[in-house]
Amino acid sequence: MTVLSADLVVVGAGIVGLANAWAAAKRGLSVLVVDRFTAPKGAQGASVRNFGMFWPVGQPPGPLHDLALFSRSLWLDIAREAGFWHDACGSLHLAVEPDALDVMAEFATKARDLGFDVALLSKAETLARSPAANPDTVLGSLWSPTEICVDSRDAIATIPRYLEKRFGVRFLYGQTVVGVDGASGPNDTVTVRLANGERFTAGRAMVATGEDLFGLFPKAYEGSGMRRCKLQMLRTVPQPDGFRMGPMIASGLTLRHYKAFEICESLAPYRARISREQPWLDQYGIHVMASQHGHGMVTLGDSHEYDGDILPFDRQFIDDEILRHLKQMMRLPSWELAETWSGIYAKHPALTCFRADPLPGVHIMNGMGGSGMTMSFAHAEKWWAQHEGPLRTA
Ligand SMILES: Cc1cc2nc3c(=O)[nH]c(=O)nc-3n(C[C@H](O)[C@H](O)[C@H](O)COP(=O)(O)OP(=O)(O)OC[C@H]3O[C@@H](n4cnc5c(N)ncnc54)[C@H](O)[C@@H]3O)c2cc1C
Repeated sequence: MTVLSADLVVVGAGIVGLANAWAAAKRGLSVLVVDRFTAPKGAQGASVRNFGMFWPVGQPPGPLHDLALFSRSLWLDIAREAGFWHDACGSLHLAVEPDALDVMAEFATKARDLGFDVALLSKAETLARSPAANPDTVLGSLWSPTEICVDSRDAIATIPRYLEKRFGVRFLYGQTVVGVDGASGPNDTVTVRLANGERFTAGRAMVATGEDLFGLFPKAYEGSGMRRCKLQMLRTVPQPDGFRMGPMIASGLTLRHYKAFEICESLAPYRARISREQPWLDQYGIHVMASQHGHGMVTLGDSHEYDGDILPFDRQFIDDEILRHLKQMMRLPSWELAETWSGIYAKHPALTCFRADPLPGVHIMNGMGGSGMTMSFAHAEKWWAQHEGPLRTA
């Protein structure tokens, strides 16, 4: 059976799909979102498996950092409007080694002129800002106020309810899209085919299917360099006695991971020393971070294994290394683990947002890698502003 569905069908209810649904709905389009997983939790992909770190400090200076700050305002808008927990708590990169502190000091000096609101903190200032900083090891830190912590499981479950109520966006969970046929002319529609045989027609389709690069439009990814990346994660029990760690925490090792720090000349020797002394950190892409959500649990991670190295099984060695490095720089009242899991995202080697139009009226948005929570709202808003024009506020 074929039914006329909507101006836009979005395939995938992860953060990229939701960001597109929101941007289109704000412009007055009728929107239907389809995801193969089942409500009420909906999406089970990368968007519910992450730290919930909105993290502009990791973006390179210039247009991407600006875009991240634009995304920040969108996150604050939707968090307020939809009413989900969030904490604009900022971030601390904790240094436990002098050469990591050198990189932070250089970044604090250079990045301020490039639009970053960052400061180098002394040991005493660091301990005053976070009770989770380990007084026995921490030498100082890089403070940034722009980061926001969200509980991604809560946000990804709440945003659809908000979009439904506020804009009439419809959600169809538990249905797999097996094909999307393009429009044959300017006035024609696209057809979205479901595994159960049903079909929907729509003005256009946005395919936001995350790490599944082999399902819909695999040819669009061929030769693109797009990669899949697996990350291991852990989460503590709620911290006792209402302990709050304050800002989200990253490590010296994190400086090796985010492009922002590549403006520092001191990064190369620090990277080289880590590679020489602990080559397994490069091999498994380990750097460590921690975020605490409203319920008091602390989410910990992570590692990075790519493509053919991705196994369905998690490595205990990686979890042990993550905990070893975290415990070196942090103190928590309880390190008892409530959960461990892994997640996979799609990452383009050069672009922060992979875009393709495989058929007329059919668009793909994907490949934001480890910055999808940070950048999705801005990328989607930018795309819809270009294609549908300025915002019509209802
Ligand atoms: C462990 C981990 C930690 C991370 N931490 C952070 C962080 O702190 N900050 C940050 O900015 N980013 C972080 N990221 C990155 C971020 O989570 C991802 O970039 C982002 O979630 C990708 O969103 P997505 O919507 O593309 O994919 P997903 O969330 O995977 O959503 C894709 C959806 O498409 C659906 N789908 C796929 N195929 C079909 C089909 N054929 N029919 C119907 N539905 C389909 C899937 O069911 C899924 O729900 C992290 C990622 C991971 C894995």
